[in-house]
Amino acid sequence: GPAAILEKKKKYIMPCLAHFYKDPQEFVKGSMQYLWDSNGKKYLDCYAGVSVMNCGHANPDIVGPATEQAKTLQHVCNIYLTENFVNLAERLAAVTPGTLQKSFFCSTGSEATEGALLLAEVARSNSEIIALRQGLHGRTKLGMSVTGLTMWRTAPTPVGGIHFAPNPYCYRCPLGKKPDTCDLACANAVEDLIKTATSGHPGAYIAETIQGNAGIVVPPKGYFQRVKEILDQYGTLLIIDEVQTGFARTGKMFGIEHYGVTPDIMCMAKALGNGFPISAFIAKPEIADTYTRPGASTLGGNPVSSTAGLAVLDYIETHDLAARAESLGKTLRAGLRRLQETHPVIGDVRGLGLMDGAEFIHADGSPAPELLDDVLEEMKDRGYIIGKNGVVRNVMAFQPPLVITEENLTQVLDELDCVLTAKKL
Ligand code: PMP
Repeated sequence: GPAAILEKKKKYIMPCLAHFYKDPQEFVKGSMQYLWDSNGKKYLDCYAGVSVMNCGHANPDIVGPATEQAKTLQHVCNIYLTENFVNLAERLAAVTPGTLQKSFFCSTGSEATEGALLLAEVARSNSEIIALRQGLHGRTKLGMSVTGLTMWRTAPTPVGGIHFAPNPYCYRCPLGKKPDTCDLACANAVEDLIKTATSGHPGAYIAETIQGNAGIVVPPKGYFQRVKEILDQYGTLLIIDEVQTGFARTGKMFGIEHYGVTPDIMCMAKALGNGFPISAFIAKPEIADTYTRPGASTLGGNPVSSTAGLAVLDYIETHDLAARAESLGKTLRAGLRRLQETHPVIGDVRGLGLMDGAEFIHADGSPAPELLDDVLEEMKDRGYIIGKNGVVRNVMAFQPPLVITEENLTQVLDELDCVLTAKKL
């Protein structure tokens, strides 16, 4: 049970791995949008293992083919020819925006962002990078160095040549502007940074489409168009990190489609494997073709995870999960905004598709992480798993399996209403 696991964890796992709840349960089973703990208690999962299980837990349409593949040929490394990873790359070229075409497969989001940044350095012969404040891109040395989220940073001596631009967080604008009169000052700041702090032609700019860990920060309309125009003037490549926003999460196959911009390189992980470890970065052919020196990632795109990836793309298309996320997201945000009218603790509601946040605040507008923790613990006891993120962890995060139903959303909103009322929030 949980107590014994906690004791063993303390002894054998490094302490950086914090667990989510004060009183955590042990999960033993999952099916589509539901989870069960070791006491047989059922939960509605509204976080999908951090935006991973978009097609649902233990989905037979994905686990089935992947298990068959594991029984037949599990791994040889893609220095040898197998069919699935090449087929998956072909499918990714078809579903990603614009002329993105050639992929490199690895296993985690960190490797995908690290690899994308390396490719940009190779393609542009320049290792300077612009990243966003409060962004998150991984736990490797470079991934951590481009991560601007203070609570996450564990790089006492970060890699040099990295410059942080203000993040497009309209609710608490880092530049103190108002959205209707700002003229995208946060995007314009990228040009200022390039001119004042770099060689004048940094290799890459990297950003999440929606900053997940920073608290579901949705850039304003036009933000990425403006950034892309600026980057093109200086020969800087646009790397978009779709690790959380990819695979129908935001109501489109990839979040960046909301902005009508084609990145030069795009990173993906998490939901690509729906629980099987696979990640990739994909680039425009003229950029990809500069990456000629031999090298593979041993487990990258192995037959089992590539089979899972193909099954995920089939499932998303067959069940039109993007349209589903778009429509259910509207329902969810409308429900959260109704709660905001009667519960002053909710300061802001924002999101795209089924990537939505409710920011918890005190009466004076300051962040209220302790109130959110209390509510999340209570929701868990009532059978609802909801995430949290934000710079000080005061944003309630909904990123459920996209197979969740409208009825499920009504239940979680009703329950949340009860909890907020009982706690006089
Ligand atoms: N990029 C983003 C946007 C992420 O949210 C994460 C992890 N949460 C990563 C990269 C790193 O992915 P991984 O943990 O698979 O290495």
